[in-house]
This record gives sequence, structure tokens and C-alpha cells, in this order.
Amino acid sequence: MSNPLSIPYQTGNSEFGEDDVVDAVSTPVDLERIQRAVREILIAIGEDPDREGLLETPGRVARMYAEVFKGLHEDPASHLRKVFTQKYDEMVIVRDIQFESFCEHHLLPFTGKAHVAYIPNGKVVGLSKIPRVIDALARRPQLQEKLTEDVADLMMNELDAQGVAVVMEASHSCMTIRGVHKQGSSMVTSALRGICKDKPATRAEVLALIMGSRN
Ligand SMILES: [Zn+2]
Repeated sequence: MSNPLSIPYQTGNSEFGEDDVVDAVSTPVDLERIQRAVREILIAIGEDPDREGLLETPGRVARMYAEVFKGLHEDPASHLRKVFTQKYDEMVIVRDIQFESFCEHHLLPFTGKAHVAYIPNGKVVGLSKIPRVIDALARRPQLQEKLTEDVADLMMNELDAQGVAVVMEASHSCMTIRGVHKQGSSMVTSALRGICKDKPATRAEVLALIMGSRN
């Protein structure tokens, strides 16, 4: 860990727990509608939504959905508007950013780590902003491939960066709890932009730095 710019970053509050802060007033999500739908699902699978253990489930699921899909009501670019003008034009890399998202095919979570590198072009952003960008883009029905590309494109466009590299590795619940049951398998996606894509030496360097963080 000699490179001071290589910082493992952990986002806080990653649990989908009981202590949801969402209430009907603070969210644009239609909680009532989700509650009705969840009740319907319980009936459809052959459950009794009125038994004691399930009574509060629709409300709980509604608040959880408001929380985990709140990125839909957030502008991810807003986190990149506060930039610092600096002549620094070496690679900046933030590794091991934990993220949680929901696959849009099954509405099941996929969770993992993102590694983001960029080469500024006079505009530098606070390191804590990058996990916020990922969060805003992850907290919606997503595909890992699209999420990876969206993060790269947004960084590239908002920062006018010389190059951006994003690598995401995640485990998908829809693979581990159903279907092929591939426990422990992870999916790796990458998106390279600018000189991180076009200049072979830069591309090799950025991927080596990112992959060096594994294990
Ligand atoms: Zn899926």
C-alpha cells in the first residue's frame, strides 16, 4: 500500500435491514402500491398474507424497495459537479468500492466490488464522490454490464477525463439461489474509455493496478 491514491473504500449502511429510514413522506416511491402488489404475490404463491408472520411483510418490502431503488430518483451526475482544478494528470484509482444492486431480470440482488480509475484532464473530484456515483447508478433495476458502462461514461463526460477504467466483480443471487446454483462464482465486467482504452501502455498499467488489488 505505498500508493497513497490507492485507497480501499467502503460505503456505509449497506444492509437492507429493518431500520429503514424510508417513510411515505420522504420517498417518491408509491409504497401503497407495492404493498398491494406484495400481498397479491403472497396469495399467488399459496401463502396466507393475513397470518401473523406475514402481516407486516408488504409494508416492510415496500420500504425496502424505496430504499434499494432510490437511485431512480437521484441524478448521479450531481455528485461530480464539485470538482477541483488541478494540474495533476496521473492516474487516480479507487479500489474495492462495495456496491449493492438489483438485477433487472429477476429483481434479486447482486453485490460486489467496483474498482474505478481515471486520468484527469485538469478536473479532479473528491474521492468520496465516486462511491456515491456508483450507489446512485446501482440502486435501481440494473444489469452489471450496463452499470459498469454507465459509471465509466458518466466519469468520462462529467470530468472531461483523459481516460477512465471501471472494473466490477459481483456475485448474483439469481445465479446462486436458483437455476444453476453456482455458489461462489462471480461475474467480472469492465469498461475502458479514452486513453485507458486506446493507449496500450496505459491500458496495461490501469488493468495491472486494478487487478493487483484482488485477493
Ligand atoms: Zn438475474
